Amino acid sequence: MPSQSPTSGRPELTAAFDAATRWLDSLATRPVPASEGVDEIAARLAGDLPRAGSDAAAVVEQLAAAVEPGLMAIDSPRFFGWVMGCALPAALAADWLVAAWDQNAGMRDATPGVVAVEDAAARWLLQVLGLPNGAAVGFVTGATMANFTGLAAARDAVLARVGCTVASEGLSVAPRVRVLVGAERHSSIDLALRYLGLGAAELVQVDDQGRIDVAALRDALSRSDAPTIVCAQAGNIHSGAFDPFTDIVSAAHQAGAWVHVDGAFGLWAAADPRLAHLVAGMDGADSWATDAHKTLNTPYDCGVAIVRDPGALSRSFGHSADYLLHSEIPDPHEKVPEMSRRARGVPVWAALASLGADGLADLVHGLVRAGQGIADGLAALPRVEVLNEVVYTQVTVAVGDDATIDRVLTAIVNEGVVRPSGSRWHDRSVIRFSVSNHTTDAEAVAQTVDAVGRALGSQGVGA
Ligand SMILES: *Cc1c(COP(=O)(O)O)cnc(C)c1O
Repeated sequence: MPSQSPTSGRPELTAAFDAATRWLDSLATRPVPASEGVDEIAARLAGDLPRAGSDAAAVVEQLAAAVEPGLMAIDSPRFFGWVMGCALPAALAADWLVAAWDQNAGMRDATPGVVAVEDAAARWLLQVLGLPNGAAVGFVTGATMANFTGLAAARDAVLARVGCTVASEGLSVAPRVRVLVGAERHSSIDLALRYLGLGAAELVQVDDQGRIDVAALRDALSRSDAPTIVCAQAGNIHSGAFDPFTDIVSAAHQAGAWVHVDGAFGLWAAADPRLAHLVAGMDGADSWATDAHKTLNTPYDCGVAIVRDPGALSRSFGHSADYLLHSEIPDPHEKVPEMSRRARGVPVWAALASLGADGLADLVHGLVRAGQGIADGLAALPRVEVLNEVVYTQVTVAVGDDATIDRVLTAIVNEGVVRPSGSRWHDRSVIRFSVSNHTTDAEAVAQTVDAVGRALGSQGVGA
C-alpha cells in the first residue's frame, strides 16, 4: 500500500505512523480485549535471533503485525478496567518527539530544551493542582515511584528531626519510623515502604467509603512520639473517595508528622472548581504523588512526585559526581531516583497546553459525569447495586452473590464491548468501572449500560 504520510524519507517512521494510525482509528469501534494471548503472539516471534539483521521498516511492519492481535484497547472509550487513562492527541505526538529527540533529561545544562519544557510543565502542574508555588516536581514512571519519591523525602526529613542522617548512616541506627495509612491504601504504598526499608505501615480504620477515620488517626498519633509519616489518599480505587485532608493535616502536623498524599488519579480533582470540596485542605500536605498517564491522559508512562520543601527532596536524591555537569539550581536527576531518563514532562506540557486550564477542568468533570451516568444506568438494571457514593470517577457494583457477580463479569468481558474489572471490596466480589478516558462520552456510557444489561440477561439475572 503506497504511503500518503509525510515521512517517506524515513520508511521505518512511515511504517510506524501507518500502524499507529490504523490502531488509533480502530479504537472507537473495535472490541476492547485482545483477540490473542501471549502464547499466540510469542509463537509468531519464536526462533533464535538471526545472525543477520533486517531492514528497519520491515522490522516495524513485522512487529506491528505480530503484536496488534494481542493489544488491549486501553484507549477505547469503553475500557474501564483499572485506572489507565488514554492519550490526548497533543501528548501522544509530543511523546513521539521525545523519542526522536532522544534527550537524557537529567541535567539542566546538557539538555536545556526539554528541561525548560519540564520546568514549565511543573509550574503549570502546581497551578492546576492548587499546590504550593515553589514546591519541587520530579517526573518518574508512575505513582508507585512517585509515592516512593515522596515517602523517601518524608522518611529522611522525619529522621533528620531526631538527628539521624539517612544518607550517611542508613537506617541501622535510626529509630523505627511509624507510617500511618488508611486501611484501604493502594498496594503501591506498601511497596514503596518496603523499598524504603520501612516495613509494613500501621493501618488506620476507614469509613464505609474507605476514608481515614480522623478520630482513629488522632488516637494512633497520640500513642507514640516516634518519627511519623501519615499517608492520605485522594481517590480510593473502589469508591473514588477522598480522605478528609483538612483534619488529617492538622492532626498530623500538630503531632509533628509528615503528610504524604497518594493522589494517583484523584489529585486531578483539584483542577476542576466543581470538585474543590473533595480536595479541601489537600494543599496543606508535605508531599504528593500522582500520575499523568491516568487522569491527565498522557501516554504511558509518567508519574509526578511533588514535595513542598525542595530542600527535603534534594537531601534525599541530590548527589554529585565529577563527570556530570552541575548547575546552580538542582538538576532534574536530583529530584527522582533515576539519573538518566526520557523527558516525560514534555507530553505533560503538551497535554496541558492543548487543554488549557478550562479544558482540563472539563476533562476531569467529563470523567466524573461519565462515571455518574454509568452508575445511574446500572442502578436501574435488575439486581444491580451500586456500592459506592459516586463522587468521582469510580463505580463499584455488585449483582447478587459472589458467584453471580463472577458469571456476569465473565459474560461482559467475553462479549468484549466493554471492559470493567473484577475486585473484592468489603468482603465481596465486585465489578469496578474506572472512568479515566477523555473519549468516554454519553454514547459510550449508554453502550456500557446496554452491555451490562445483556450480560445480566444472558446469565438469567432477572428483576
Ligand atoms: C494506579 C495507582 C497507583 C500506582 O500507580 P502506577 O502508575 O501504576 O505506579 C497508586 N495509587 C493509586 C491510588 C492508584 O490508583
